[in-house]
Amino acid sequence: MNFIETRGNDGQHPQKVSFSQAILSPISSFGGIYSPESLPVLGESFLNKHLSSNYKTLARGVLVAFEIDIDPTTIDQALALYDEFDDPANPVPVVKVKDDLYVSELYHGPTRAFKDMALQPFGIVLSSIAQKRNENYLILAATSGDTGPAALETFKNRANVRVACMYPVGGTSDVQRLQMVTEDAENLKVIGVKGDFDDTQNALKRLLASESFNQKLKEKNISLSAANSVNFGRIIFQTIYHIHSYLELVRQNAISMGEKVYLNVPSGNFGNALGGYYAMKMGLPVEKILIASNNNNILTQFIKTGAYDLRTLAVIPTTSPAMDILKSSNIERILFDLFGEARTRELMKQLDSKKCYQLTDTELAQIQAIFAADYCNDDEGKAYIKKTFAKGYLMDPHTATCFKAYETCRDKPLKTIVYSTAEWTKFSPVIANALTGEMDTHDIDALKSIAQEAHIKIPAMINELFNKEICQKSIIEKDAIEDEILSFL
Ligand SMILES: *Cc1c(COP(=O)(O)O)cnc(C)c1O
Repeated sequence: MNFIETRGNDGQHPQKVSFSQAILSPISSFGGIYSPESLPVLGESFLNKHLSSNYKTLARGVLVAFEIDIDPTTIDQALALYDEFDDPANPVPVVKVKDDLYVSELYHGPTRAFKDMALQPFGIVLSSIAQKRNENYLILAATSGDTGPAALETFKNRANVRVACMYPVGGTSDVQRLQMVTEDAENLKVIGVKGDFDDTQNALKRLLASESFNQKLKEKNISLSAANSVNFGRIIFQTIYHIHSYLELVRQNAISMGEKVYLNVPSGNFGNALGGYYAMKMGLPVEKILIASNNNNILTQFIKTGAYDLRTLAVIPTTSPAMDILKSSNIERILFDLFGEARTRELMKQLDSKKCYQLTDTELAQIQAIFAADYCNDDEGKAYIKKTFAKGYLMDPHTATCFKAYETCRDKPLKTIVYSTAEWTKFSPVIANALTGEMDTHDIDALKSIAQEAHIKIPAMINELFNKEICQKSIIEKDAIEDEILSFL
């Protein structure tokens, strides 16, 4: 399968690229991104065939249908990483929480957040492409918490790839910071930056665009790449768990084959939702995809009104920080898929120059035929955590945002799959506060009190973090980032 450009071709870039090329350089003409030229049709025969498959076999089936230029051995090595999840036989448990609400738990990987679902196999794929081409890559990452640990974990000790990961000092939770600064590998560099997440992200963008920096890397025979959520190498692995979750509902006799369901996704950069959209287009029986936001509710406004309007907005910090996003990058692939390259280029140009675009009524109707959305503020989220815990299910604040959309967005009594994107251990102070009212500033206190409250154990990999040696000690001013990275290389 080939990949084409969301904003059309500028005559400088190739008209089409392979999957591996789209992974190595995700940005295309006019600042667009690569999207699949066509999607495989899976249909009911595929679903029936995989009803008795395990996760890896289903995943292999989906990847084969995409006809990507990655050899089967590499694919097998990549998928083998799901064996490292809590239960190798079922890396993504789907749990019944209410009669018509099932939670698909995407956080059972090494860093306890759903970024592992895609980044774990992606690391193997990228490293293998780099080795085959005899090239060396530097992955630059700026993180507010979940992407950083998952990117470090996947590229740790992988050949031909190095990672420099920047986080804002004081801007992540204790667990997230410890997951990064205790990573001990020659090819990893973690840099605490004095400033907020925007400062680190702006520094990253400057470096990616800097000719002198790129030139210095070239002298060291290194190319730059990014593992961010527009990379199709991540998206492809995010179609699989939607199909898996549907099949789980059939296996659990919650639905019969062919019956439609709602997918309900806590959204930030729209990677998770886009995976659901592609799965639906490939033939998964989905009624609608329910998009949950927090107080940064631009996606809700967009889906309700067709206006993507950044003009008066600034990011609001919330208790679901992985969704504190205003420029949701993967929306562009939806625009492209529904309205084509010329219209996408026009809309994205308006977003750049006027910080705003408005869909036509016809376009809005097309969006609303697939998506519905609502947002959930922090207090509502805490109330859902508390209420759901009282019924026996513990969830994190990102997952909780879905419960609002579940209540307000469905117009048919169909089963709903809520995607849980983080384990309780990742955002413990918020959860402890929701359950008992306590105001812990340190994760370790909150973790202990939740464990006691819920009669569960703190998972070993989280507990161990607090005793591990801190080996990544760099804490620097933001104007020193470039030198810090160059001296690492
Ligand atoms: C990244 C992330 C999200 C948002 O996912 P997108 O694919 O960017 O929409 C939601 N919850 C958690 C915990 C995350 O880490």
